[in-house]
Amino acid sequence: MSQERCDLHMHTTYSDGTFSPAQLVARAKERGVKTIALTDHDTLSGLEECFVEGEKIGVEVIAGTELSVDYRGKTTHILGYFPGPQVPSLEEKLARLRAGRDSRNEKICQKLCALGMEVTLSEVEALAEESVGRPHIAQVMLKKGYVSSVKEAFDRFLGKGKPAYVARDRLLPRESFEAIREAGGVPVLAHPIFLGPLEELDEVLDELVPWGLEGIECIYSLHSAEETEVLLRAARERGLLVTGGSDFHGAVKPEIDLGVGKGELFIPHALAEELKRRLGLGRS
Ligand code: AMP
Ligand code: ZN
Ligand code: FE
Ligand code: FE
Repeated sequence: MSQERCDLHMHTTYSDGTFSPAQLVARAKERGVKTIALTDHDTLSGLEECFVEGEKIGVEVIAGTELSVDYRGKTTHILGYFPGPQVPSLEEKLARLRAGRDSRNEKICQKLCALGMEVTLSEVEALAEESVGRPHIAQVMLKKGYVSSVKEAFDRFLGKGKPAYVARDRLLPRESFEAIREAGGVPVLAHPIFLGPLEELDEVLDELVPWGLEGIECIYSLHSAEETEVLLRAARERGLLVTGGSDFHGAVKPEIDLGVGKGELFIPHALAEELKRRLGLGRS
């Protein structure tokens, strides 16, 4: 069964994806993905529905989330994986992060208004069940014709240093690792290519691993074969967990499909098995 695949990174309407949890699980089934992990930004609220649907149609689900951390002044994403959908010790922290998002979204809308773009908080909030952010604001700007793409919204208005940018509270890497591990979870560095040149990876890992990082997302929709190789070697050398994910978002990132990424992505199911062992979950 070496052809069995998993996908350990994806989003639903609870954050900035466009598939509901049930639709997500159905897509996994269609694509022949045996095990998925749901990793919505700053929320665990889609997990329960994913587990119920997965049980119903025969897709195994692992609980997860994706946190934004402030590392050397840049935003970096940390995936957290958990033994089950209830993670009480993390809920308060996540609620705080989402409250920070809400007040920031309001400020961004005010800035856009001052720039002559009428984007209301309620229009933005209608696009997600729970964890609302700049991708949703960008979608409203696109729908109203203020920009011709989400990328343009970020490049001209919403990105760091642009006129409608507002900073938000982010955790430090160490805080995120501690919060995830205190909840019995495993922290993993998401899509390392976004961090900077891979030449700096060793230096980054020298810092993050002693702080509690336990794994690297080596296999990812946008990693080249060479990049994947470098990351796998780094993980192997340091005894870190290897994970892989598509970062599926549905219609807002149509070029990336669940389980198969841009088409060539293959994430061996053995990675899900290893993650489950780390989480103290039995083999299926
Ligand atoms: P937020 O969490 O609200 O700060 O929004 C960050 C999210 O916006 C990231 O996870 C990306 O999905 C998206 N994003 C950031 N920069 C860009 C960009 N230049 N173009 C499109 N999407 C972006
Ligand atoms: Zn996302
Ligand atoms: Fe991410
Ligand atoms: Fe993601």
